[in-house]
Amino acid sequence: MADPAECTIKVMCRFRPLNSSEVARGDKYIPKFTGEDQVSISGKPFMFDRVFGSNTTQEQMYKASAQKIVKDVLEGYNGTIFAFGQTSSGKTHTMEVRFGQMISTGIGGSLHDPDGMGIIPRIVQDIFNYIYSMDENLEFHIKVWMFFPPSAVTKNNLSVHEDKNRVPYVKGCTERFVCSPEEVMDTIDEGKSNRHVAVTNMNEHSSRSHSIFQINVKQENTATEQKLSGKLYLVDLAGSEKVGKTGAEGAVLEEAKNINKSLSALGNVISALAEGSTYVPYRDSKMTRILQDSLGGNCRTTMVICASPSAYNEAETKSTLMFGQRAK
Ligand code: ADP
Ligand code: MG
Repeated sequence: MADPAECTIKVMCRFRPLNSSEVARGDKYIPKFTGEDQVSISGKPFMFDRVFGSNTTQEQMYKASAQKIVKDVLEGYNGTIFAFGQTSSGKTHTMEVRFGQMISTGIGGSLHDPDGMGIIPRIVQDIFNYIYSMDENLEFHIKVWMFFPPSAVTKNNLSVHEDKNRVPYVKGCTERFVCSPEEVMDTIDEGKSNRHVAVTNMNEHSSRSHSIFQINVKQENTATEQKLSGKLYLVDLAGSEKVGKTGAEGAVLEEAKNINKSLSALGNVISALAEGSTYVPYRDSKMTRILQDSLGGNCRTTMVICASPSAYNEAETKSTLMFGQRAK
């Protein structure tokens, strides 16, 4: 059994570089890095397990936030990695980017920079490399699914249920067994394009939603019949910005309220876990119900707090960092 003391929540904080429009506007670069685990915004210090400045590579991010969890999942633990932050703070860049930017090969050609890959494709690659390196007595079953919790905009009939062992599952969501890293990434692309079609059919313009991806690894040693099972949730959370700035109305406003509600429910769960509280309010949102068996208990959790370094976003950045701080 896992030692409860091993049950860890780690919070990392990553600042993206100033983007071209911020540079063009002459925005000030505001974070001051005052140690490996501390950053100050206008004199206010924030502590995390690690902080990462704008020139952090995707590989450094992967090593710090995911590599150990992948190893643990292959040993039968469950885990969750979140990316939290306002829209355009680098969540998808950190979690998902499948290919880096085009780089010149120097001989007239170009290719996607493999160093640009985000956490998810690196995890998938590591899991399959592990599988390929094992002897043939070990049989692996890799199952993945992708889910976008329904919102006011994309109403769908997916609902959260519990099986006979009280493990939550999403009814109506397609699970798929996969045999290669390519099949995993295809499942993600398909999940995204399905959601895109759903949103477009509703005639709404919305890019805000959580995206939850699960990879489930079951192993069986056919010689000893020993079994192991671990799963990992990879969550690219919806933008955490306040609604006021975007001037939303109607269904989009409803959606923004739902998002804020579910993010604060998540914050409450994480801080209850971090405090070792006996009551953890998992049931307050669909997302926390889904993630329940991979948060707390026998689990590994990392939250990557993503932030803009521009003075223009100072208020949002501070509230983003405060959110991450609650988990400590
Ligand atoms: P989010 O998913 O939080 O809305 P994105 O990941 O889409 O934000 O990032 C917004 C833009 O900033 C994208 O064009 C992305 O390529 C760029 N970006 C984000 N983080 C970084 C980074 N660490 N280094 C370079 N570019 C980044
Ligand atoms: Mg994104």
